[in-house]
Amino acid sequence: MKAAAFAYAKPSSLAEVFDLLEQCSGEARILAGGQSLLAALNMRLAAPAMLIDINGLAELDGIAVNGETVRIGALTRHRSLERSAEIARHLPLIRLAMPHVAHAAIRNRGTFGGSIAYADPAAELPACSVALDAMFRIAGRRGERSVPARQFFKGLYETDLQPGEVLLGADFRALRPGYRAAFLELTRRHGDYAVAGVAAHARFENGRFADASLAFFGIGARPVLAARARAALEDSPYAPETVAAVQSAVGADLEACACGDLYHAATTKLHLARVLAGRAVHALTGA
Ligand SMILES: Cc1cc2nc3c(=O)[nH]c(=O)nc-3n(C[C@H](O)[C@H](O)[C@H](O)COP(=O)(O)OP(=O)(O)OC[C@H]3O[C@@H](n4cnc5c(N)ncnc54)[C@H](O)[C@@H]3O)c2cc1C
Repeated sequence: MKAAAFAYAKPSSLAEVFDLLEQCSGEARILAGGQSLLAALNMRLAAPAMLIDINGLAELDGIAVNGETVRIGALTRHRSLERSAEIARHLPLIRLAMPHVAHAAIRNRGTFGGSIAYADPAAELPACSVALDAMFRIAGRRGERSVPARQFFKGLYETDLQPGEVLLGADFRALRPGYRAAFLELTRRHGDYAVAGVAAHARFENGRFADASLAFFGIGARPVLAARARAALEDSPYAPETVAAVQSAVGADLEACACGDLYHAATTKLHLARVLAGRAVHALTGA
């Protein structure tokens, strides 16, 4: 099938993007890497009147480290994140996640902002952003605002982005001493969206865990931060009892939001989440 007819514009400033979004009053879509949007158009799951191609906005592209803050622009390609020395050094969780995002050809075009705005519940970057407590930068005609990743994902493919707004990028806190990252996912084939996954981040010093964040994806309608699992890890050593306590906590954290997909029941996903939680706790020790 081919896409329904649409108009195309490639603005050279954000002001022009806002003009176009306003003129089209909800009938336009932003085009970034096109890896999800064009497939949706070709399958006629979406039929916007206009595509607004933001690839000419160089200010939205790139990775910048400023003190303790790592800023990722919305147009930064997945491949750039995967290959960046700054990301490997300051945001190792994202470095670990990137090879799991689709396939190389898709990573060459797909963008950080596209993945966040699309908000697929099984996508890796939204979960990393939640685990790392990133702050998203959003702009509209009336100015800029910031939204914590932990409040941005509202439901299935649903975010806090409002009509007329553009995601500019995200600010992350750079890795602090003593902190470690673990990223694990289960897929039917490498490069597929996850059946279940976890993006984890914690301090592990003097044999004890602290300040842990475990964000599960592919389980519910959006990435889920496991609060009880965090509590079970706090000030605990790496021991079989800790792993068992975290796995049990994860079951309680995810039970209410777990939903099945075409191939896996919610109970299967919960089981996989508990298995991944156990592996993540081990990986967070760095052993
Ligand atoms: C076969 C296949 C397998 C894939 N597997 C995975 C996978 O395993 N994991 C994964 O995470 N992804 C996967 N993807 C998706 C891929 O990562 C996409 O690149 C990503 O979801 C969307 O990024 P994009 O830049 O291509 O966005 P686009 O397709 O251009 O846009 C996606 C949506 O986001 C909106 N949007 C884009 N940028 C902005 C912005 N700056 N502000 C506001 N709205 C914006 C668009 O309007 C559109 O609604 C897969 C894609 C394919 C085709």
